[in-house]
Amino acid sequence: DKEYVGFATLPNQVHRKTVKKGFTFTLMVAGVSGLGKSTLINTLFLTDLYKDRKVPNAQEQINQTVDIVKHTISIEEKGIKLRLTIIDTPGFGDAVDNTESWKPIEDYIDQQFEQYFRDESGLNRRNIQDNRVHCCLYFISPFGHGLRPLDVACMKALHEKVNIVPVVAKADSLTQAEVYRKKMKIREEIKQYGINIYQFPECDSDEDEDFIKQDQILKDSIPFAVIGSNVQVESEGHKFRGRVYPWGLVEVENPAHSDFLLLRNMLMRTHMQDLKDVTGETHYENYRAQCIQNMTR
Ligand code: GDP
Ligand code: MG
Repeated sequence: DKEYVGFATLPNQVHRKTVKKGFTFTLMVAGVSGLGKSTLINTLFLTDLYKDRKVPNAQEQINQTVDIVKHTISIEEKGIKLRLTIIDTPGFGDAVDNTESWKPIEDYIDQQFEQYFRDESGLNRRNIQDNRVHCCLYFISPFGHGLRPLDVACMKALHEKVNIVPVVAKADSLTQAEVYRKKMKIREEIKQYGINIYQFPECDSDEDEDFIKQDQILKDSIPFAVIGSNVQVESEGHKFRGRVYPWGLVEVENPAHSDFLLLRNMLMRTHMQDLKDVTGETHYENYRAQCIQNMTR
């Protein structure tokens, strides 16, 4: 079934207790405007988060995400509940002076830590609602030669606070060879500029060969090449999310066309719990240590 996302495997990753309460996960998108952030989150979660958006006309096409918008959806698969929160952010980079244009995003992440820290020191510690941002998909333009200075500055402003997963946007505008080269270039630059993106955990030595192979494919795919679409295409009897061009069809979920499935499986099926763990154990702990240091100063 097409509507199946796959988080029902999550209980394998955690303790039984968590299963009863249900899972919560918060995903954010960030990057220069117009790269398809709003479109991709819509595509990822199969729900029309933006169904209120009217059919675009010349006027509305230039409408952009202008505020940080929080969407929450509750989904259930095989009896497993997931409360998924998606933070859509205004793209930046349009202004003449883009200094610190990512500040609202940084502030948002900090505010969630601040709230959690306050709740943790309060009386109702058992029932804290975790609104911390567990992952940030960072969108990189397919048109430039790798990272732009703004991308570097933004990722460096955020990398100590959130798990950054870089993606190459609108991969349908690149050939296979171009995608490959772009990925290599971006990976090199990430290293060169000292940007700490989310690191997939090392495989356990007792994992089977197939698992290890899949894990390597995942690691080699960074930054994920993604394609978003809000429309269902019907062709030769089956329906899928895609983009229709004069020369052919792009299928979002076709592994030959994009890394969309790899990304969604990573987020929803295999690495959700690790993203949460790293958020709590590394990013939040850093924040907390800083708070305590400031208090005792
Ligand atoms: P945002 O500003 O990053 O949120 O971008 P939007 O989601 O609003 O999309 C901006 C424009 O890019 C819209 O016209 C989309 O239809 C288009 N778009 C979104 N995703 C893709 C994609 O994967 N490929 C291509 N070619 N266009 C896309
Ligand atoms: Mg948007």
